[in-house]
Amino acid sequence: MEDFLKDKFKGTLFGQAIGDALGLGTEFMTKAEVRKCYPDGLADYSQIVQDCHRGRWQKGDWTDDTDMMMCIVQTIINDGELRPLSVARNFKEWFRRGPMGIGRHICNVLSIGDYTEKPEVVAKKVWEMSGKKSAANGGVMRTSVIGLLGEDVEKHAADVCRLTHADPRCVGSCAIVSLMVHSLVYEDEILPIETLVEVGSRYDKWIEPYLRMAQEDSLDALELDDESTMGYTLKTMAAGLWSLYHCGSFEEGLLAVVNAGGDADTNGAVAGSLLGARFGYENIPVRFIEGLARKNVLDEKTESLFAVLCN
Ligand SMILES: [Mg+2]
Repeated sequence: MEDFLKDKFKGTLFGQAIGDALGLGTEFMTKAEVRKCYPDGLADYSQIVQDCHRGRWQKGDWTDDTDMMMCIVQTIINDGELRPLSVARNFKEWFRRGPMGIGRHICNVLSIGDYTEKPEVVAKKVWEMSGKKSAANGGVMRTSVIGLLGEDVEKHAADVCRLTHADPRCVGSCAIVSLMVHSLVYEDEILPIETLVEVGSRYDKWIEPYLRMAQEDSLDALELDDESTMGYTLKTMAAGLWSLYHCGSFEEGLLAVVNAGGDADTNGAVAGSLLGARFGYENIPVRFIEGLARKNVLDEKTESLFAVLCN
């Protein structure tokens, strides 16, 4: 039983990191550009084109999405439980080190001086100043680890989202992804769409149509590569769920999502975590694991987190 749980646990965190690292290869590309750069499709870190965006990372390294997830992981290891203010402090410390690939909204929030004292208030103010329009995927990109907690998953997902993202679409998408991870890891069950619709209705009316799109046959319905909406939290949530509902393996699901372009590192991070939670670490192709630039760090932190949460 413990081995089964650990396999799912590792699958979630490695799936996230792998999806992030591979998705960088098509980040900000249209589907046509993806085809031009990778005529046979992107299927390995070694293929990643070294242009001025991607060349800043070592091939196989993850980006800000998984960096922020690791801030949460480290907090839980240190505190023995999830404490939102500790997470906010880790976010700020990470931000001070000048990370690459950080989104504009998160940058605006973490730049504010008294962020660590009242992160939620700061995040809400920044959102209000944006005209309450911003619903970026910076919360959902790091939420998979919350699904590994034993209890109060929805509340913790909402609390950690609100440390940077106040919009109810962001909070609802974090709740949905975290609850799905939890169900896959602890119950080995894919939550039915109607359950997710019910969760979403507690947050925002726009969540349901995206959940329905995640049920459509083709991923094209989500238009992931549309330039003006590619960082939208509901698109990222729906892309991850689409892969879970439609694909028979980790590899099939992840490659479908990253080869669709758009905000592909983030879409890949969410899809990868859900697929890893479903199929487990053992079913992730070895080349994806071995090629991860910071594989050893992730391995060590995953072991520590598992010891804290599951012993
Ligand atoms: Mg990123």
